[in-house]
Amino acid sequence: MNAKLDTGVTTRAVGRKTFDEVLVPTYAPAAMVPVRAIGLDLWDQAGKHYLDFTSGIAVSSLGHANPVLVDALTRQLHQIWHLGNGYTNEPVLRLALALTEATFADRAFFCNSGAEANEAALKLARKYAHTKFGPHKSRIISCLSSFHGRTLFTVSVGGQPKYTEGFEPLPQEINHIPYNDIAAARAAIGPDVAAVIVEPIQGEGGVIPGNGAYLEALRELCDATGALLIFDEVQSGVGRTGTLYAYEQFGITPDILTSAKALGNGYPIGAMVTTNEIAQHFNVGSHGTTYGGNPLAATVALNVLEMINQPAFLARVKEASAKLFAHLTQLCADFPQVFGPARGMGLLVGLPVIGAYEGRAKDITKIAEGMGLMLLIAGPGVIRFAPALIVSDAQLLEADRILRAAVTEFVATATPAA
Ligand SMILES: *Cc1c(COP(=O)(O)O)cnc(C)c1O
Repeated sequence: MNAKLDTGVTTRAVGRKTFDEVLVPTYAPAAMVPVRAIGLDLWDQAGKHYLDFTSGIAVSSLGHANPVLVDALTRQLHQIWHLGNGYTNEPVLRLALALTEATFADRAFFCNSGAEANEAALKLARKYAHTKFGPHKSRIISCLSSFHGRTLFTVSVGGQPKYTEGFEPLPQEINHIPYNDIAAARAAIGPDVAAVIVEPIQGEGGVIPGNGAYLEALRELCDATGALLIFDEVQSGVGRTGTLYAYEQFGITPDILTSAKALGNGYPIGAMVTTNEIAQHFNVGSHGTTYGGNPLAATVALNVLEMINQPAFLARVKEASAKLFAHLTQLCADFPQVFGPARGMGLLVGLPVIGAYEGRAKDITKIAEGMGLMLLIAGPGVIRFAPALIVSDAQLLEADRILRAAVTEFVATATPAA
């Protein structure tokens, strides 16, 4: 039986308003609906062209429809799609080798998203502390403004109270401390702490780079108390900051690292990696997922890692970053009443909207979108740039041109707050 039940839905005209009719209203997507994209070029239903400086949300780092990934995935699609956890597969074995050889880690666990990677990391840290030290050692320390995902555990660990409101009762023994505040970390990290989780650069929280001395202090405090240090590199990982993972630039090694977003370039996959000593505290049946490490996702991720983890590729990310910063520094100088200094690492860059225009980042990105440039925000006050890592100098220049036009229009039409 190959005949499909013909309801006409597969060919029915749909548009942005269909979203409002049949999707659970958890998002407020843009008015245009993208239908096709290649590299950083994207087209909507009306055929209008956009330059994509969002990469999803720092996901499609090798560009849309990357030909190497299309080819690898197509070949795997004809080979094998899915197996239960009763079987392993060649792509996931190769991916685990690639990931552990490229990082501090000895072992990898695969899942389908950043939240799931953090869920696995937090559960493993609790299990480790529980079996090694006893049930009293269960506290989790996280930072204010952090973001770790949307499962009940990860959203409770995340430092944005607006995301947990109404979902109580929440998981217990979780405390939040200000980011980059060493004194607060010293006061909070005691003998009952099982894990400290931190983004080496806060993404959703406003693109705020971690301070080297702060991250070092977290490492020392974890060592002194037997707590595990978890780096959430879901957004900062896989080349985004100019090294494969951001931890390399701080010279600090976490105990557990989580990765997702760019790892699959848009094909859903998450990973939690750790050492042999810690990994053994998860045993058969401790944790799992139906799709984690499936051959399709693993094939894509393996090819992503092979392409990004090359000295020349990462050097180009740093070069493109310097060029983006140069453009934004000039933009700040030309519009000092609108922007504070750009900040970030590699091609994860935030531009704060300041003064009388504070909180108006979205107004600017909306105008830019109308002019053909897609940008992200990171909270209401920051424009976030996360172009594909393959962005060319010409595309950086074009983005600068459109953004300038958008800011010029914004300043001409916006009424500044008194
Ligand atoms: C996006 C993100 C997550 C959540 O990832 P999902 O794939 O949406 O579950 C977790 N941590 C950080 C730092 C992120 O940026």
